[in-house]
Amino acid sequence: MKIVFATGNKDKLREIREILGDIATDIVSMKEAGADIDVDENGNSFEENSKIKVLAVQEYLKANSEEYKDAVIMSDDSGLEVDYLNKEPGIYSARYLGKDTSYTEKNNNIIERLSGVPDEKRTARFVCAVSAALPSGEVLTVRGTMEGRIGYEIAGENGFGYDPIFVLPELGKTSAEITEEEKNALSHRGKALRMMAEKLKEIGELI
Ligand code: IMP
Repeated sequence: MKIVFATGNKDKLREIREILGDIATDIVSMKEAGADIDVDENGNSFEENSKIKVLAVQEYLKANSEEYKDAVIMSDDSGLEVDYLNKEPGIYSARYLGKDTSYTEKNNNIIERLSGVPDEKRTARFVCAVSAALPSGEVLTVRGTMEGRIGYEIAGENGFGYDPIFVLPELGKTSAEITEEEKNALSHRGKALRMMAEKLKEIGELI
């Protein structure tokens, strides 16, 4: 099975290779497959956005690539939902307060908006939808989540994005204070990728 992952992010690609390495002979980014295209993610949910991406990349590769026209195309869409903020920033996580605004500012802004809010109302989750477009055009989509709470201050140097304010209650640490390995075992993206790997294994012989 050949897999083209619709991302330019090297960290994501490394995680995907670890999880899907035993079912795919070839895992490349969309750019490596020759699909250096911009896709407008204008859906209303994580699932819709990941689906829009795989279908756009599949259409492009079917028309332009002999090597990857029958590959499985995968993508993910993820973000942070804060319950007290009506699930903001949600699908706008990367664009929250403007895409060029630093995460220090984004994170401080969320802490500010939750000032005076007690522990039990600070619940939040990271969500990740992963889609896979099969050569037939059928699209599979799964969702993984990681539950936590918004902390009272920024903490931790690992991870990225909203990790420094995302407290994992069982560990009493933010997801920026654990190792990459620990995070991959718990994370929304890790869970969704493992779920999709299982699905692809079941149908792998048919592709
Ligand atoms: P995308 O799915 O790569 O577009 O990511 C969407 C945005 O969600 C990222 O830019 C981050 O702001 C946020 N996000 C998604 N997953 C994580 C995570 O594991 N830690 C911190 N922030 C995340």
